[in-house]
Amino acid sequence: MKFPIYLDNHATTPVDPEVFEAMRPYFLEKFGNASSKNHSFGWEAESAVEYSRKTIANFINAEPKEIYFTSGATESINLAHFGIAAAYSNKGYHIISTVVEHSAGNDSLHVLEQKGFEVTYLPVDRNGFIDLNQLKDSITDKTILVSIMTANNEIGTINNITEIGKICKEHGIIFHTDATQALGKIPFDVEENNVDIASFTSHKIYGPKGIGGIYIRGRNPRVKIVPQIFGGKQENSIRPGTMNVPGIVGFGKAVEICSRLMVDESVRIKKLRDKLYNGLISNLEDVTINGSMENRLPNNLNLLFKYVRSNDFLSNLKEIAVSTGSACNSATLKPSRILKAIGLTDEQANSSIRFGLGRFNSDEEIDYSINKIVEIVNYLRSISIAKELKE
Ligand code: PLP
Repeated sequence: MKFPIYLDNHATTPVDPEVFEAMRPYFLEKFGNASSKNHSFGWEAESAVEYSRKTIANFINAEPKEIYFTSGATESINLAHFGIAAAYSNKGYHIISTVVEHSAGNDSLHVLEQKGFEVTYLPVDRNGFIDLNQLKDSITDKTILVSIMTANNEIGTINNITEIGKICKEHGIIFHTDATQALGKIPFDVEENNVDIASFTSHKIYGPKGIGGIYIRGRNPRVKIVPQIFGGKQENSIRPGTMNVPGIVGFGKAVEICSRLMVDESVRIKKLRDKLYNGLISNLEDVTINGSMENRLPNNLNLLFKYVRSNDFLSNLKEIAVSTGSACNSATLKPSRILKAIGLTDEQANSSIRFGLGRFNSDEEIDYSINKIVEIVNYLRSISIAKELKE
């Protein structure tokens, strides 16, 4: 067993060695610019890019021309929000989202609010779900976009995007979903799920960092989007700039591996996740799950350890890499806004830990983690009780 054990796969994943090998030639001998039309270096790079585009499109049941490469999900989500706002502002200025979106979604919507758009942030229940009737009731004739994530990065909640998409379709409203945590973990099909725009990234599925994509529906209906950066003609001018060919090749390979492994892998990882959960709740008192255990990503666990401060937990748990919430916010000491949105107090949110399991975790690592976590929680509780007694 190698230490530290990595249980933070929602933050990022290691690159699969098969992905790394596929990328390698595109740094060294096949280094061409995919836009160079005059020689074989360019043609070779372009053909690799198109192969990845096709692989990703097939995986989500889209057409290759509906896939555009970006630097990652943050850029894709920003493009979706600002690009739709710019393209449809003549129709309306109202957008609907939720209080539990990733900061890429949440923060870009706040900027749109400063520009005069009105955003309704739907609340969620104790399990992390929105009320579909409240979504319907929030729609007005000025609503141009509904933006709701497929699966949550902290509590793993999987939204009923098929139903959300259907409601949007019935009202002629564009539906964007942040599918970052869902892609490669659960089935995702833009037709079946009634999705018009989807944002995703490579580094959560054992691909490289700094490369992602956006699906933009090309027909039934064709979605218009105004580019947010300007330059060359790459990606149909939707996302100009020299293409990250090694990244795109790696992303395509990562998706190809997911399409091969996803079904069996999700069963195996869910088993490990459940083992971790059962091991902890059967050996410790006052441990509760944040969010619903149903409709949850197979690799996610988010637990509240009563009487334990998560920062103390993390500083004592050097052998296991876990987190208090999203990586982007891990530098702040503020309680997670997602956990607060499902009704936790500041204290409860600050006693919660996110576990994200992945492809390379083993049974042995989970056994070790259960024992270690039980030991540390018992230790921290014993010193906090001793402290309370002294006070
Ligand atoms: N959306 C969700 C749900 C995420 O978990 C993340 C990653 O942390 C992002 C968006 C941002 O992705 P990227 O790191 O590719 O910009």
